[in-house]
Parts: sequence; structure tokens; C-alpha cells
Amino acid sequence: MMKYCPQCAHSLENKSLDGHERLVCPACGFVFYRNPAPATAALIFLDGEVVMVRRKYDPRKGLWTLPSGFIEHLESPEACLLREVKEETNLDVDIAGLFGVYSGNDDPRTPVVLIVYHTKFKGGDLKAGDDAVEIATFGLEDLPPIAFRAHSQILEDYRKSLPEEPLPGSVLQEDDDNW
Ligand SMILES: [Zn+2]
Repeated sequence: MMKYCPQCAHSLENKSLDGHERLVCPACGFVFYRNPAPATAALIFLDGEVVMVRRKYDPRKGLWTLPSGFIEHLESPEACLLREVKEETNLDVDIAGLFGVYSGNDDPRTPVVLIVYHTKFKGGDLKAGDDAVEIATFGLEDLPPIAFRAHSQILEDYRKSLPEEPLPGSVLQEDDDNW
């Protein structure tokens, strides 16, 4: 937690502002606004399976996430996504559209707003980057232990968004009462 003003180094004080407890500098008026950090994540499918990365470092070391990462200062979400995908998976992808925006509040480093994109594979061989122990593809019915709730939710929502496959042997009911 921040203790000193980043503008003038005076001690910050807790104050109620607009109904929120905020750290405020009594000397220069600086207000420390606490906001979630924006991050991006990619849905990449290879042969019908989703690409996932196994974390090398804490938090949640050893568990799996979609390729994802925090947006750098002055970086666009799209540029962040392409950079993170390349760094973590070695793949080149195109952005194929926005899938959705999710809140993540179970990352101990910071609350996160996760911007999730559909992607289209362009090229490259799957290879784990520096902050992954392993990279692999998984069927949506056969997912590994996932590090963060938002990533589980994304995959669940994605699965639900797919058209349901008819059961083998089932036929569409004809509405034959109205002829
Ligand atoms: Zn100050």
C-alpha cells in the first residue's frame, strides 16, 4: 500500500471522497485512485483445441491460463494481445473480434479487467515462452486445472456459445399439427 505522495513525498492520509475511502495528500492534493489493471487474453484454437499456458511463477504457479498479460503503459489492447501471444506461445495470430470483457478479483497482485479476443492462427510453432513451464492444447470438455476464475468463466461461456451438436440418431421434430 502506498504511504507517501508520489508527487511531493508528504505522508498520505485516508479520506472519504465521493463515498470512497481514498489516500489523499494533505500537502498537494494528490488523490491515489485504486483501479483494476487492464489485461488481455486470447482464445486460440488449433485443430479444435484451445491453446493454454502453464504458469511458471506465482501466483498460481503450475496452473493453467489462456495466453494473457497486462497492458503496458501507452500500449493498445490489440498490440498487447499480439505481443503476449507471441511471447507466451510463439504463435502469430490475427485478432478476429472481441469475445468479451471480464472482471478478475482473485489475482493477489491486483484486480483485473480482462479483455478477451477471438483470434485466427496465422503461423508459428507452439513453444512455451519464458514465464510458462509448458504449453498445450485442450479439448473444451477436458480442461486442465485453471489458475483464475475469469479464465474458467471465459471457457465456460465460450463452450455455451457453440451450437449444440444434435445427439446421434436424433431428428428434428416436424411440427405437423398445423397442416
Ligand atoms: Zn503531495
